[in-house]
Amino acid sequence: MTAPSDALSTALRAAAVLAGGCDSPVRSGWSVGGAPFVQSDARGAYAFDERGERYIDYVMAYGPLLFGHTHPALTSNLDELASHGLVWGSTHPQEVRLGERIRAYLPTMERMRFVTTGTEAVMSAVRVARAFTRRNLILKFAGNYHGHFDLALLDAGASAHTRDAVGSGIPDGVMRDVAVARYNDLASVDALLRGREDDLAAILVEPIVGNMGYVTPVDGFLQGLRERATRCGAVLIFDEVITWLRLGLDGAQARVDVLPDMTTLGKVMGGGFPIACFGGREEVMAALAPAGSAFTGGTHGGNPFSVGMAHRVLDLLETHPEYYPQMDALGKRLTNGIRAIFARRDLPYAVVQHESIVDFKFRPGSPNRNYDDARAADKAAYARYYHAMRDRKILLPPSQNEVMFVSTAHTPADIDQTLAAIDESLA
Ligand code: PMP
Repeated sequence: MTAPSDALSTALRAAAVLAGGCDSPVRSGWSVGGAPFVQSDARGAYAFDERGERYIDYVMAYGPLLFGHTHPALTSNLDELASHGLVWGSTHPQEVRLGERIRAYLPTMERMRFVTTGTEAVMSAVRVARAFTRRNLILKFAGNYHGHFDLALLDAGASAHTRDAVGSGIPDGVMRDVAVARYNDLASVDALLRGREDDLAAILVEPIVGNMGYVTPVDGFLQGLRERATRCGAVLIFDEVITWLRLGLDGAQARVDVLPDMTTLGKVMGGGFPIACFGGREEVMAALAPAGSAFTGGTHGGNPFSVGMAHRVLDLLETHPEYYPQMDALGKRLTNGIRAIFARRDLPYAVVQHESIVDFKFRPGSPNRNYDDARAADKAAYARYYHAMRDRKILLPPSQNEVMFVSTAHTPADIDQTLAAIDESLA
């Protein structure tokens, strides 16, 4: 098991000053055990531990690093960006232009507002939906993760699972106004909505899920949600915090053939810098102050530095149309390699890939369709595999609810080295 003494001492010091030794529980390695990964540096597709050992990184900061850690277009000339000031507290032309650029790709975002984190984006969207409908009930899905505001945590994916409010800091009252359905299961949606249609403010969903492993919507599922939201007079919110830009400039919504009323964005859009966004139909977003009575605000919302980074990200993607096919080819190389290893070793696990997202779980049978499937995977096997891979200098997410992210910085040689490590680790 990986536990270099210097990393251990940092972990021990961390435990003595940071709550739980970390700023986000998944990093503590609580679902795989052992010493947490302590990082000292990063470059391209690689993370470095405290001894300077290099790891091929598939965590990619849990999603933002579509271009790897240090793409020069994102890490150079930052003085120039900073020289105009970092935060202004005023409306400015570049944030207007960023809104216009985003809307050109996501026309459903007729009006939007910039915030700092994905959590803030989804929390704000939920408030707007409630203000617009003058209703309370939010229907969401087990295994979808939407950040760490109160209602979002109930039965959440990623490594944030909170079964009920007791002892979690979530007020009991919150439970009354949230219903948690099974992903890909419209019957479960209908059962929860029965008799409560008139109270439904919003259906909140990851249109393509990256927080219980990688899960795609079955045919008709998102259409079914669209129909139910419309029938109930509720707002359909797509959480595209992971998927926008990860799965192309038009996001998941262009691929699933269903249009939401509201959308939330984050992660990749800041190129590693924190910026997020929520928006939607003009009529819905009009519920926000100053026009309407719902309030969201933020000292750092739309600050010129983050906005400048988001422009750089869009510039990069627009000038490098080869990036998506390049990542898709790497994703396929990794996926096909894993499938070949599984076939040779007679292992009954399904591997799923969507461009730069690659995932498999230690559960025989077809890929995950919902959180019950995700939880049926062998957690202890994943923990052993995680550490065997880490010993071989491959950094995987320390939770089987996460996925592997490939970036533009990964190379075919990185993939081949990873495959060799997978083969050895599974042995
Ligand atoms: N929504 C989704 C789909 C996410 O994956 C995440 C983060 N993993 C969030 C919201 C929350 O974003 P943040 O961590 O920036 O608050």
